[in-house]
Amino acid sequence: MISFSSVQSTSAAGAAATAARTALLPNHNSHQLLFSFPSKTSHFHCYPHRRQQGLRIRAIDAAQPYDYEAYLVNRFAQSTKLKIAVIGFGNFGQFLAKAFIRQGHTVFAHSRSNYASIAQSLGAAFFFDTHDLCEQHPDVILLCTSVISTESVLRSLPIQRLKRNTLFVDVLSVKEFPKNIFLQFLPTHFDILCTHPMFGPESGKNGWQNLPFVFDKVRIGNEDSRLSRVENFLDIFKKEGCRMVEMTCTEHDKYAAGSQFITHTMGRILEKLQLDSTPINTKGYETLLDLVENTASDSFDLYYGLFMYNKNAMEQIERLDLAFESLKQELFGHLHEVLRKQLFGKSEVGMRRPVLAKLPKNGTPLLPAQSESLGNNDN
Ligand code: NAP
Repeated sequence: MISFSSVQSTSAAGAAATAARTALLPNHNSHQLLFSFPSKTSHFHCYPHRRQQGLRIRAIDAAQPYDYEAYLVNRFAQSTKLKIAVIGFGNFGQFLAKAFIRQGHTVFAHSRSNYASIAQSLGAAFFFDTHDLCEQHPDVILLCTSVISTESVLRSLPIQRLKRNTLFVDVLSVKEFPKNIFLQFLPTHFDILCTHPMFGPESGKNGWQNLPFVFDKVRIGNEDSRLSRVENFLDIFKKEGCRMVEMTCTEHDKYAAGSQFITHTMGRILEKLQLDSTPINTKGYETLLDLVENTASDSFDLYYGLFMYNKNAMEQIERLDLAFESLKQELFGHLHEVLRKQLFGKSEVGMRRPVLAKLPKNGTPLLPAQSESLGNNDN
């Protein structure tokens, strides 16, 4: 900031004229800069009676011998930056790594396949050997492997080379399974955070604003540094605008089977029908085509993981099957009535037409099939 103030000087004084010609007089001790307009003597001659108005400029925030403010700002920013090791640098691992790097975190990557050049292009360091990676002492180990390979990948990590109390995070689409294997394999001095970003490279390609991010702080040590590290990690997703949802892994799996697994299953069924776009697509049909595109881009391993490692998924498959059967019964029941009318001239009074039975909610027994009384009105 620069402050201006008037300096009084006498027009007569030759010293004043000399001073006035001095463009810049740094005074480091007081951090003031004296700045005066170069004067022509004629000015003074024109107004001999007036006292000359000099201009002093004070640079209040002139450079200090050591810039503590910038140093502290920088130190604070650095303290929130994490070294994140992404294990499983496939489709989703790379997608997440881009956001981490964009936010200034350091990313180390490891995968079964060689992604060295992709990692380099993103600004991450690729490690072929997990020993080398662990010796970098990352703050966070982020498991981004397929659900079905998670256990073998975790077992293969030389965790003895990590810092004690390293934070382990997973992003698997099922939650109870990784929670249990983390608790089973990781010594108690490691922290555990189970998460599920409820979006992927396709659904999150235009940003993560308002997209749900589920997390469960399964085991976090009490020390301040450990508490702040987990918050720093969660902040990455907060900063991207995610809707942060804290819930247990058990709750997640229950909800996800009824929503995500059904979505993926419907997408894959429709994919098998090889739907084509038509010149007369309705909005609803466009939604179905989008669903196929969204789910087909995920690997089959991912879908299989949703089924195999979520104990609620089997029940959902059965419910889907039941729902389809029930719908067919209702349709065929109507068709049967039309045929009877054609054969016998009128529908039979007192006959009951089956209607779609209400499906049982998770775990409750099947409700009895309902039926509708057939009157003799002919509409
Ligand atoms: P994915 O097929 O579920 O997993 C691919 C990753 O697993 C790759 O990094 C792959 O390594 C690794 N992998 C597979 N088999 C392996 C094995 N036998 N040994 C070692 N590594 C193996 O596809 P993804 O979409 O990348 O998903 C990764 C994780 O993120 C999954 O757990 C998924 O549930 C979760 N997730 C995905 C999404 C999404 O939209 N895609 C969203 C949320 C969560 P290589 O590539 O080196 O072979």
